[in-house]
Amino acid sequence: MTAPNTVPPNPPAIGQPCPACGQPVESRLVCLACGALLALNPTSPGGLDFFGWFGLPPAMALDTALLSDRWRRLGFRLHPDLHRGDSALGPALALRLSSAVNAAYKMLLDPAARGAYLLAELSRRAGFTPDPKALPEGFLRDMFNLQEQLEESGPAEQQHTRGGLNRQLQALRTERDRLLTEALETALPEAPALTRIQQLLNQEKYLVKLSAE
Ligand SMILES: [Zn+2]
Repeated sequence: MTAPNTVPPNPPAIGQPCPACGQPVESRLVCLACGALLALNPTSPGGLDFFGWFGLPPAMALDTALLSDRWRRLGFRLHPDLHRGDSALGPALALRLSSAVNAAYKMLLDPAARGAYLLAELSRRAGFTPDPKALPEGFLRDMFNLQEQLEESGPAEQQHTRGGLNRQLQALRTERDRLLTEALETALPEAPALTRIQQLLNQEKYLVKLSAE
């Protein structure tokens, strides 16, 4: 079944009635109850729209069970066969949105990618983009030393070094999540905080690589 489709000028907020069927909206992209398109510019999402597609508030802490549930239902609702003869959301757009939803789902599920996505929006709000390669002073030297240590030591010592790496990784992630959460609650995020978040995202990549080697 296809929904009567004229896209509303203001997409309803989560929990508000769908203009087409009256059911409370669970996604700001497509009504999961009737399949009506709700977003005005679905192919060029802005701000933090990817969270809205899944009806979730933009945050580092994420209800992954709910995310997966909405992703599955969006996939069903965006099946091209359900949109033949649909004026606002035809089969071709449904197909494009379906793959965009898959990419957004994969991105949101990965905490590092989610952090980078949030940082991009915070940077836009602040009018300040941190250096994408930002790293704390001395970090690369420490990584080099650690790598040498790993290469030159025996199994027991290696295990010890890797234990330390994992603790460092945990600490980085905790700080990353805390700073992102704080910045999201701030009207105008500050440049030093954004730079620190960028550093943490970069440091995480090095540590993940080193602990996997
Ligand atoms: Zn509906």
